[in-house]
Amino acid sequence: MIETVLYIVVPCYNEQEVLAETAKRLTGKLKRMVDGARISPESKILFVDDGSSDNTWELINTFNACYPSVMGVKLSRNRGHQNALLAGLMIAKEYCDCAISMDADLQDDIEVIDKFVEKFDAGCDIVYGVRCNRRADTGFKRSSAQGFYKLMKFFGVELVYNHADYRLMSRRALEALSEYQEVNLFLRGIVPQIGYKTATVEYERGERFAGESKYPLKKMLAFAFDGVTSFSVKPIRIITVVGAIIFLISLVVLIYSLVVNVTGQTVSGWTSTMMSIWLLGGLQLMAIGVIGEYVGKTYMESKRRPKYSIEKILK
Ligand code: UDP
Ligand code: MG
Repeated sequence: MIETVLYIVVPCYNEQEVLAETAKRLTGKLKRMVDGARISPESKILFVDDGSSDNTWELINTFNACYPSVMGVKLSRNRGHQNALLAGLMIAKEYCDCAISMDADLQDDIEVIDKFVEKFDAGCDIVYGVRCNRRADTGFKRSSAQGFYKLMKFFGVELVYNHADYRLMSRRALEALSEYQEVNLFLRGIVPQIGYKTATVEYERGERFAGESKYPLKKMLAFAFDGVTSFSVKPIRIITVVGAIIFLISLVVLIYSLVVNVTGQTVSGWTSTMMSIWLLGGLQLMAIGVIGEYVGKTYMESKRRPKYSIEKILK
C-alpha cells in the first residue's frame, strides 16, 4: 500500500486557453500513477486562480465537478505568480506528504513527476526540476534568463541554475517554508535556504502549449531586481566602495589643485567642473535610489501585510 499523498499545485492567471489540456494531462498522469501504485489515491491537483479576469475560474469549477482529483482555490485578486504559488503550497501542506509546483502552460514536462516522487521516496525533502536545455525558448528569453542567473550569482544570491518553480517539496520542507514571513517573496531564493536533503531532476522545457507568457520584459526585470534586493545587500556595498574610490580620487584632485594654485598656473577648469558635477550628481542619485529601494523593502516588510487572501476553496 503506497501512502504518499502528492499534491500538484498549479498557479493560473488568465490561462483559459491551456487549462483544459493541462487538467486533462495532469489528471491522466495522476491516475496512471495511482493505478501503478506510485502514489496514494488521495493525491490531488490544486489549481490556484490568481485573480484571473477571463474564464479560468469557471473552468476550474468545471474540472472540480468532472474530476474527483481536482481542487481549486480562488485568490481574492491578482497577487502575482509567487504569491499564488505560496497560497497553493500552504493549502496543500495541510493534506499532502509532498507537493509539486508547476506552471499551467505545460512547459514543464509532466512525465518527470515520476522521478520527483522517486527521489522523494528515496528520502529527499526538496527536488529541483532543472531544465537541461532551452531550445524551445526564444533567443531573447534564453539570453535574458542566462543573464538573470549570472546577475544573481554576481550579487551573491544562491540559486539553483536553470531551475524555475518546478519542484517537489516534502511536507516538512513546506512547514519550514511557512516560517519565512517575508512579504517580498522570491521562492527560488528562499527554498535553497531551507536545507534538508535535496536532489535535482533534469527535464526538457517545452513550448507554452497555448496562450501567451504572463511575464513580459517589465515583469521579468522587476522580478530580477526584487530577487537581488530581497537576498543581497551587495548593491549597497558596491555603492560604498564606489564612494570610497571617488573620495580617494578627490583627495588626489584636491592636492593637484592646491599645487596648481600655489605654482600660480591659473586653470580655466570648466571641463573638470562640469564633469565632476554630472558624475557625482548621477552617482549620488543612483546611490540614494538603491538605498531607497532597501528602505522601501523594509517599510513593506514592517507592515507585515498578508501576501494573499483566499476567496474560495473547492475541495
Ligand atoms: N501566473 C500567475 N500570476 C501572475 C502571472 C503568472 O499565477 O500574475 C502564472 C501563470 O498562469 C503560469 C505561471 O505563473 O502558470 C508562469 O507564467 P508564464 O508561463 O506566463 O511565465 P513564463 O513561462 O513565460 O516565464
Ligand atoms: Mg510559461
